[in-house]
Amino acid sequence: MLTLRPNCECCDIDLPPESTEALICTFECTFCAICSKAMHYQCPNCSGNLAQRPIRPTTALNNNPASTERVLKTGGCPHSNVNPNK
Ligand SMILES: [Zn+2]
Ligand SMILES: [Zn+2]
Repeated sequence: MLTLRPNCECCDIDLPPESTEALICTFECTFCAICSKAMHYQCPNCSGNLAQRPIRPTTALNNNPASTERVLKTGGCPHSNVNPNK
């Protein structure tokens, strides 16, 4: 099951489970649409491709809630000019 991380690993923007702006790699590294585009849709952690995260229906979220554990990439993202510390 997808973890559905609550934020972009680069810029820490909120990415709720219903967000269409969330992209993930095969390891579920999670990024927003802006960062993903800046990184040419390639994950900076594993070099895999980034694809839009499927939306989990609200009814399914009741039994399988999204993760609330925020993950941030150490040192920020090399391919993004978004500052994670702002
Ligand atoms: Zn971002
Ligand atoms: Zn990755």
